[in-house]
Amino acid sequence: MRAGLQRRREQYAEQLKRLEYDQQRSAAPLSADFAEQAAETENDEVVDALAHRTRTAIRQIDHALRRDDAGQWDECERCGQPIGEARHGKLPEATRCSACADER
Ligand SMILES: [Zn+2]
Repeated sequence: MRAGLQRRREQYAEQLKRLEYDQQRSAAPLSADFAEQAAETENDEVVDALAHRTRTAIRQIDHALRRDDAGQWDECERCGQPIGEARHGKLPEATRCSACADER
């Protein structure tokens, strides 16, 4: 299970690297054509939002790995009940049971 988490983390890190590369590239002067400029701006926003989501996912995985280190990987951090294999199979980085995850 830990291997699954680490693999996911690597995938996200790889994705983030690509997104950051995109962000750097789009920091270059915009093209003169206005229509193209508008499209580029929209694309920048999508890339920024994606990069933000990816960073959040990596933080969540690191958090789950730390809980694994503490031997609490399958323990809901809110209510202390087991998170369960069904949920962890779908979402290895989950640190709350499904009941608690709904209560943000
Ligand atoms: Zn719970």
